Amino acid sequence: MKSDLLPILDEATQEWFNFPSRKVSWVFNRPFSELTAALDPSACVIITDANIFKHYENLFGKFRVYVIKPGEGSKQQATVDNILVQLLEWELNKTDIIIGIGGGVVTDIAGYVASVYKRGTRLFLVPTSLLGMVDAALGGKNGVDAGVFKNMIGTVYQPHLLWYDLAFLQTLPQDEWRNGFAEIIKHACINSAEMFNWLEENNPDFYQQDEAALCKLIAQNVQLKMQIVLQDEMDRADRQLLNFGHTLGHAIEKKLNIPHGQAISVGMVAAGEVSKKMNGFSDEEQERLVKLLQQYGLPVACSFTEGGVLEALRKDKKREKENIRFVLLESIGNAQTSLISIEILREYLPEYL
Ligand code: ADP
Ligand code: ZN
Repeated sequence: MKSDLLPILDEATQEWFNFPSRKVSWVFNRPFSELTAALDPSACVIITDANIFKHYENLFGKFRVYVIKPGEGSKQQATVDNILVQLLEWELNKTDIIIGIGGGVVTDIAGYVASVYKRGTRLFLVPTSLLGMVDAALGGKNGVDAGVFKNMIGTVYQPHLLWYDLAFLQTLPQDEWRNGFAEIIKHACINSAEMFNWLEENNPDFYQQDEAALCKLIAQNVQLKMQIVLQDEMDRADRQLLNFGHTLGHAIEKKLNIPHGQAISVGMVAAGEVSKKMNGFSDEEQERLVKLLQQYGLPVACSFTEGGVLEALRKDKKREKENIRFVLLESIGNAQTSLISIEILREYLPEYL
C-alpha cells in the first residue's frame, strides 16, 4: 500500500508507531536526497540551524529555509515567534509541511512551531545528531526554556514522519557523539541489560567506524524509546523512567553550564548512589556504570556549591512539593521511580548537594 504522506513510501520501506493522535512513520537509513526529491518545495519549509546549513546547504535546493542560531540559547519563545511570523509571511498553509533538520534544539523548535502554526501543520523531522536520533526527535515532546526553567513551555505533538539518514553523522563533532552516548547508556540502564553488555564490549570509536554496528545501535535505541513512549505518551508513568540521571543532571547542567550529556552522566552516577542506598542496586553494578560512562568519554563527578543545586532542584518540573520524583535502578536494565525528599537526597549525596 502506498503512503498518502509520501508516494515514494510503501509498507516495506517504513515502520509505523501508532499513537492515539497519529501514526508516526519512521524511515531508517535512507538518503535525505530521496526525501527532498519526493516533495514539492513550494509546499514545505525547512527549519535548521547555522551549523547544519553550513554543511548541507547544497541539499536544500529550492526549499525555503529558516536558519536559527545553534545551541540551547535558541530554545526561547522569541525564536518560535519569529519563525511563526516568517511562516505567515511565506503564506505557508495548514496542509504544508514543516521539516525540522538538526539536533535536539532544532527538532524541539520545529515541533513546537508545527504544533501551533494554524493550530497544527504537518511535521517531518530529520535528526542529524546522535542524541537527536536516539532521543530528542522521538516521542513528540517539544518546547522552549523560560528564563532558568528548562523545557517548561511546549506541547506534545507527534511528527508525521521521522527520516533517518546516518550520513549526517559524518560531520557531527566528537563532543556531540559523547552527548548521544550518554542517552544511549541511560536507555541501557533503565531497560536493556543486553545493550549495556554490548556497550561494555565496545567503545565510541568502534561504533563510529562500523556502520552496521552503529545502525543496529541507533535502531535499538529508537525502538526502546518508542516502546516506552507508546505506553505512556503523556508522561504519567513509564515515560518518567527516561528521566534517569536527569533530575540532578538538569540542575548540574544549569549550574555549571556544561553539555547535557556530561551533566546527565554525573546525574546517572549520583542516581546510582541513591539506588544503592534505597533500592538494592549493587556496588558491583554501580562500578560497571561508572566504568562504562568513562569508557565513552563521559565525566562521573563534578563539584559545585550546595545552595545552587538545591535551588535548581526546586525548580525541577518533576518536583512534587518537597519531594522529587527520582528514577532508581534495581539492577542494570531494571528501573523504578520513587518520590524522594530533598532532605534525603542531601543526606545520601553529600558530595553533590
Ligand atoms: P542535541 O544535542 O539535542 O542534538 P543541538 O541541536 O544543540 O542539541 O545539537 C548539538 C550541536 O551539534 C549543535 O551545535 C548543532 O548545530 C550540531 N550538529 C547537529 N547535527 C550536526 C551534524 N550532523 N553535523 C554537524 N553539526 C551538527
Ligand atoms: Zn537527556
